[in-house]
Amino acid sequence: MKGILFIMSGPSGAGKTTIVKGVLKNLEDLAFSISYTTRPKRKGEEEGKDYFFVDESTFKDLIKKKDFLEWQEVHGHLYGTSKSYVESQMNKGANVLLDIDVKGARSVKRQIKDSVLIFVAPPSFQELKERLIKRHTENQKNFKKRLEDARYELSQISKFDYLIVNHDVQISIKQLESIIIAEQLKVSRRSEFVGKYKFYKEA
Ligand code: 5GP
Repeated sequence: MKGILFIMSGPSGAGKTTIVKGVLKNLEDLAFSISYTTRPKRKGEEEGKDYFFVDESTFKDLIKKKDFLEWQEVHGHLYGTSKSYVESQMNKGANVLLDIDVKGARSVKRQIKDSVLIFVAPPSFQELKERLIKRHTENQKNFKKRLEDARYELSQISKFDYLIVNHDVQISIKQLESIIIAEQLKVSRRSEFVGKYKFYKEA
């Protein structure tokens, strides 16, 4: 059976990366798709673990070769999802988790209709601001851009299937795991099993 594609989006600072790391530790058969980006590497980030860090001309070559399932400019840099990675994992039955921006999420949903869109929101805009400040990863210009972009992203929640409000990261991890498990158990995704019981005819 083909795997399910789970797409997580939400503003920078909402806590997506921490939630993803927690869920990957607990769930088997869940593959995380590592994106390509032209953003400079942050302190502590590793090539091939956090992202594949590439320059702009390499990124544009990948676009030309149609290697991306989707790509977007986000907060002033390019980010893209590897099509071959996602397809190969799904074809071998693994569920795949993406952490991508809102526009990328909608683009994937248009292509893969039964993918699941999950929005991760901060408890409030003020809390988001404080988390971004505490993270110390952005300079003043990038910080402002990320807050501006957050306003747009938060206006798009109604286009998603699920909403996690990240008050407490351990609860958010459990909530994401619950979404993944519930989606796997949907009758509409289990036709091979349902078919086994077709011998019974109603009187
Ligand atoms: P960051 O620079 O903080 O790691 O990520 C910035 C934003 O880019 C996040 O909202 C993240 O979800 C998004 N992002 C990361 N990878 C991709 C991708 O492959 N495609 C798209 N569209 N967005 C991505």
